[in-house]
Amino acid sequence: MSTRHEAGRAAHRVLVLGAGYAGMAAAIQLAARVKRREDVRVTLVNPQERFTERLRLHLSATGQQVAEMDIPELLEGTGAQFARGWVTAVDPDAKTVRIDDDRVLHYDTLVYGLGSLADTAAVPGVEDHAYNLDSVQDAEVLADRLARLGRGTVVVGGSGLTGVESAAEIAERHPELNVVLLGRREPGAAMTPKAKAYLQAALERLNVHVRGGIEVVKVLPGSVELAGGESIAADVVLWTSGTRVSPLAAAAGLTVDERGRIVTDAALRSVSHPDVYAVGDAAAIRQGYGVMHGTCQGGMPTGVHAAVSIFRTLNGKQPKPFRFGYYHTPVSLGRHDAVVQFTHPDDSPRRVHLTGRIAARYKETVTASPWPTYGRMKKMPASGAFWPRGGRFTRIRGVR
Ligand SMILES: Cc1cc2nc3c(=O)[nH]c(=O)nc-3n(C[C@H](O)[C@H](O)[C@H](O)COP(=O)(O)OP(=O)(O)OC[C@H]3O[C@@H](n4cnc5c(N)ncnc54)[C@H](O)[C@@H]3O)c2cc1C
Repeated sequence: MSTRHEAGRAAHRVLVLGAGYAGMAAAIQLAARVKRREDVRVTLVNPQERFTERLRLHLSATGQQVAEMDIPELLEGTGAQFARGWVTAVDPDAKTVRIDDDRVLHYDTLVYGLGSLADTAAVPGVEDHAYNLDSVQDAEVLADRLARLGRGTVVVGGSGLTGVESAAEIAERHPELNVVLLGRREPGAAMTPKAKAYLQAALERLNVHVRGGIEVVKVLPGSVELAGGESIAADVVLWTSGTRVSPLAAAAGLTVDERGRIVTDAALRSVSHPDVYAVGDAAAIRQGYGVMHGTCQGGMPTGVHAAVSIFRTLNGKQPKPFRFGYYHTPVSLGRHDAVVQFTHPDDSPRRVHLTGRIAARYKETVTASPWPTYGRMKKMPASGAFWPRGGRFTRIRGVR
């Protein structure tokens, strides 16, 4: 990576780790703002050139074709560089990042956006005997298995939104399979009673057998074991429950929370290493209502805000505090049905929700929205900075 610009002074190197929804937003937003400057270099690191569209992994897992997005193409015209590789270590004192164990990249400012994965370590047997939706490859392996199964039982572990969307999709695409959705909470637990009732009726119509209040204690080849000793036969287990993050931040000595996420200040800088910004699912970002939970709707704004903060700092200005309020929870129920629960900024449900085809169209529009957003940001960076700030819900006393 070049560190000298034409005037001979060292260029400021910004390294963005992880080209997920948040990392892409950060790289495009910053690169678009500095594209006429020679004194700033933006490099985005990701293990593959194909963008992992996590919001559609349940479609990939049921053999449905999804468009392939190429990261270097998405960066075209911004001047940002793409570095293909897997990050194996971060050294915040030396300000270096090790890639694939044998390459070292230097940075002046780091944006850490390595995302999250399903928590496959929480229950014994999950890592060895369950499928997951952590990558396109994982989803395609599951799709292949489901296609060859014929008849049998698929147990989906985790009744959160990913579990609900996956169970519905599998049941719709494979009506010959017996789909069982297991979780501690009933599906749609965070919705209003009406929205939840709609979601549960849709699962019933799709013949998904739902069991809430369940604790899975072990996954074995061919079955799952529940607390209390009951065993459920399973030809396939898909694990969607919980999230965990890369151990790299903790190993690097950055201050992390109990789940390994980088603890940030109001401007999204690491509280222990202010030249490291944390974005998306990998960051523990406090708002007035509590610490944000991982979503795409909140992740993209964190990436944009980090980029704007870096840009301000490069121009000798102070970064501003980040504020974000949730506005919806869209859940697909197969290809033609969905529930969209509108929310208050603290993610508690409002009375309004959408259902049926109009909700399915809404969900599709949301899922497809990152690409036009990135495209607009390339030409007009300020267009990316519109999201709900959350009003009184996100105001923290003493922070302006
Ligand atoms: C099936 C499914 C459906 C979902 N639906 C919704 C939804 O409807 N709405 C919503 O808001 N959210 C949804 N989510 C959650 C959403 O996908 C995440 O919150 C979002 O992807 C987080 O974005 P991110 O950029 O932080 O991380 P990610 O999108 O996970 O991106 C992280 C990137 O970092 C890369 N990476 C990881 N480790 C390394 C490493 N060591 N070296 C180099 N690169 C690395 C990864 O390959 C990836 O490209 C869904 C998730 C799933 C699985």
